[in-house]
Amino acid sequence: MAERKIDLLIRAGAKVTVVAPEIGSKVEALLNQQKLHWIEDRFEPAHLSQALIAIAATDNEDVNRSVSEAARQQNLPVNVVDQPNLCTFTVPSIVDRSPVIIAIGTGGASPVLARMLKARLETLIPAAYGRLAGIAREFRDQVKAALGSVDSRRGFWEKVFQGQVAELVFAGKENQARAELRAMIQATEDAEFEKGEVYLVGAGPGDPDLLTFRALRLMQRADVVLYDRLVAPAIVDLVRRDADRIFVGKEKSNHVIPQPEINELLLSLAQEGKRVLRLKGGDPFIFGRGGEEIEDLVRHNIPFQVIPGITAAAGCASYAGIPLTHRDHAQSCLFVTGHLKDGSVDLNWDALCQPGQTVVVYMGLTGLESICREMIRHGLKDTTPAALIQQGTTLNQRVIAATLDSLPDAVAAANVRAPTLLIVGSVVTLHDKLAWFDPDGGPRDNLALNEPGRGANDGL
Ligand code: SAH
Repeated sequence: MAERKIDLLIRAGAKVTVVAPEIGSKVEALLNQQKLHWIEDRFEPAHLSQALIAIAATDNEDVNRSVSEAARQQNLPVNVVDQPNLCTFTVPSIVDRSPVIIAIGTGGASPVLARMLKARLETLIPAAYGRLAGIAREFRDQVKAALGSVDSRRGFWEKVFQGQVAELVFAGKENQARAELRAMIQATEDAEFEKGEVYLVGAGPGDPDLLTFRALRLMQRADVVLYDRLVAPAIVDLVRRDADRIFVGKEKSNHVIPQPEINELLLSLAQEGKRVLRLKGGDPFIFGRGGEEIEDLVRHNIPFQVIPGITAAAGCASYAGIPLTHRDHAQSCLFVTGHLKDGSVDLNWDALCQPGQTVVVYMGLTGLESICREMIRHGLKDTTPAALIQQGTTLNQRVIAATLDSLPDAVAAANVRAPTLLIVGSVVTLHDKLAWFDPDGGPRDNLALNEPGRGANDGL
């Protein structure tokens, strides 16, 4: 207890004196670094003569009580750990984004509740807020000089904290953030602050809980969202309510909007000054065409960010209890696409059929039979374990575990629904032992991913 208190006090800039007949190794280390003083003694009221506050953190009631009494007699604020009745003040839990500090106190009623609230706030407030506040401090006087009224200054800072400057700081580009802030101070017209931006965000494999904090934050900021059929409706629901939603996965006629049109749309929306969210299933840079979508933006100097997501391989493997690598089974793992070109799957089969490796095939449902056949033909035993995972991480998840030889028939009999992922390799045998996510109750249409039935995987 004492060690934790000491650590926090020193970090807050306090000069700490420890009164104790003995000290532990951590306190001793701090002593050696000259970060605190030690009075090697049992507590006496006189020890408080130089103190500004007193904290009792012993496990001895009597000592705690005498510290409390002595402090009160000397009019010192006193805190006794875990004994609110002996305290004249309590120490809140803190969320530390220095110089921003958020304190959560319950007046000693329930430290556990305070800690739970703290955990929630920790996840809500990006670590970079401290750096953002630091930059705001640097510019405070300049902004005050440039903008006469309180109202205009409030508007200005709201733009800073909700706009491009904050995003630059969150992305680790503090110098650019400063430059942007300077430009904002120079510009007096609001319109000049507005600059379009594109967020290319990985939405993960389906379960909304697997979004990243940054993804969620940008989803709440966007003016318009472009999403495709791999993004679960439950995830699209988390986008800011008044944002425009554009479904680019397919048109009414079931045709996919061609990639160049999506790229153009991203560009033109950003040029209108919009914050454009491009939501992609899984990770944008894994079979996601993320690279193609941002190339035009680079050419036109549109700011953008790419936010990784949990890719289908990672999501499905975890939720199916199939470790992709394992010391006894696989030392490497390959991600390949099983998408058909001109009706056949064109892959480097020899590389795929090496021992001691796991192969994950995206978009492999239509070509499943030929993939399994080719793998056997190129040297894998027909008894090699293989699994097809349907709509992994969602409540529609199903795992069909079989062998290269038997999987195509098992899948044909099972009436599976896309998207599905194929995992081949002896790690699949671990599924029996490690499976933990086991939704039951059959398919739920409202939770299904947007992808249409099998056969429609088009190389997203
Ligand atoms: N960028 C995505 C992959 C897009 S390719 C990612 O990183 O996951 C589309 C393919 O991903 C689908 O055909 C399917 O093979 C796979 N996939 C995506 N989500 C899936 C899910 N929830 N369950 C199973 N497979 C999925």
